[in-house]
Amino acid sequence: FCAATRTFHSLREAAELPPESLPTTAAAYAFSTLPSPLPDRPAIIDAATGIAVSYPSFLAAVRSLAGGLWSTLGLRPGDVALVVAPSRIEVPVIDFALMSIGAVVSPANPTSTAEEYAHQAALSRPVVAFAAPEVAAKLPRHLRCVVIGSDEYKRLASDGRVPAPPPVAVKQSDPAAVLYSSGTTGRVKAVAVTHRNLIALICTHKDNHERVVREAAEAGEEPPPPTVTLFPLPLFHVFGFMMMLRSVAMGETAVLMERFDLSDALRAVERYRVTLLPGAPPLLVAMTKSEEARRRDLSSLLVIGIGGAPLGREVAERFAAIFPNVELVQGYGLTESSGSVAATVGPEESKAYGSVGKVASHMEAKIVDPASGEALGPGQQGELWIRGPVVMKGNRGMIFSGYVADEEATAATLDSEGWLKTGDLCYFNEDGFLYIVDRLKELIKYKGYQVPPAELEHILLSHPEIMDAAVIPYPDEDVGQLPMAFIVRKPGSHITEQQVMDYVAKHVAPYKKVRRVAFVSAIPKSPAGKILRREIVQQALSMGASK
Ligand code: AMP
Repeated sequence: FCAATRTFHSLREAAELPPESLPTTAAAYAFSTLPSPLPDRPAIIDAATGIAVSYPSFLAAVRSLAGGLWSTLGLRPGDVALVVAPSRIEVPVIDFALMSIGAVVSPANPTSTAEEYAHQAALSRPVVAFAAPEVAAKLPRHLRCVVIGSDEYKRLASDGRVPAPPPVAVKQSDPAAVLYSSGTTGRVKAVAVTHRNLIALICTHKDNHERVVREAAEAGEEPPPPTVTLFPLPLFHVFGFMMMLRSVAMGETAVLMERFDLSDALRAVERYRVTLLPGAPPLLVAMTKSEEARRRDLSSLLVIGIGGAPLGREVAERFAAIFPNVELVQGYGLTESSGSVAATVGPEESKAYGSVGKVASHMEAKIVDPASGEALGPGQQGELWIRGPVVMKGNRGMIFSGYVADEEATAATLDSEGWLKTGDLCYFNEDGFLYIVDRLKELIKYKGYQVPPAELEHILLSHPEIMDAAVIPYPDEDVGQLPMAFIVRKPGSHITEQQVMDYVAKHVAPYKKVRRVAFVSAIPKSPAGKILRREIVQQALSMGASK
């Protein structure tokens, strides 16, 4: 902590970043750091089928598809492509191929509704979509759609006659990806992530890994085996997207699962000798409650990496007691920071249960009193502001910068000095460990997914029999938080709980459904008209006790 600037600086040694003036893409950079000869292990494995793709095949597939995208589809740097599919082997191939020609990959949730895709497409203005067959029909009609696995896709992906694309002069400051996030208010926002952001992430991951290897050697321990990461995380969310990039850049093995199921995940850990399991807190809760987790041979598992939502100290301690040989890494990040901002590194730090570790190299942080705007010192709670090479940039006038097509939100989130206001209430202790107290933002985190209450409220208010509505997070140990709706009926209406839930379900992806309903006579609001959610949460908890 620097008292003069009231800024917390990273305590980590600075990872070496390539000069920013060097034109390169995140994909090219990831590949350039792979050892030669290429690693003799699969790059990707599909957990369900066991189909494995070696590094030479993966790189060849990326190169071949890149050729098809360039020559046959005519994609050029800056063109945006939606990628909407469950975690299948083709997805990382498409992501890397797009980035390697300077096109912008925009991964979206395959369970979203047509309405949601229309909104996302209006923001990011894709020129093409790569979609799983079951998703294609939900995409906007005007959008050119290549169905993954179709003859057209196969031609694009494997047309050996297509010449390799010419080397493209892509600047590191150019956009690499547009990720969707619900930001601090209302509807989904599109976050532009640059090649530089992703390159910085790769460097940080490499550095952390090297440090762990070095410390093991210094302690006279065996070096850790090559990392095999299981992906119960979706690849369209920043956490999964970043972990996939890391896995490839570090020459590791990624084991993909189409959707999370604890039993399938445990079986995959056993079968593929998984060493690293990243996920959201409900994964950890599920493991601590699972009989099967105790029965299975999880001896290969070295690290479980948890982030994306608050993790209670009690759950962390319970996990550590049941799985003493698994290191519990806790991390914190946002879409707006292209991935992790802080994490515990190594077994010692990871025992700081309840903390998300120390700030990553090259990062600076401030704790700002939300009321006075004053920067605070260690031990004091306030909004976390962060700055560094992984943070999104807000270049005025550039389309793919900050929140795409939303200069107002970008300006409200990033200040002129590049500080990103995270909306999270946090503090640092004297040793530089970061603690997330609560979210200033109001997002509900259901199984690690973001559910924006305002979006559900807009839908509820569109129902003719609903006069007023508020949606709040209802705490639930299994899923984190459930979206619960408080409804004021129109006079004379007898709309039921089930009808309310069905109505919302018709408009949103399954993870956004309202799962509890209460009828009340009024919604408490502040004088400025803001819904007083905390009060409602208290009300819900007292009602819950009698339910
Ligand atoms: P997303 O953009 O979906 O990654 O959501 C980012 C938000 O998730 C952050 O601003 C936090 O509110 C929350 N979050 C992420 N990681 C953690 C964590 N380890 N503990 C508490 N909240 C977290």
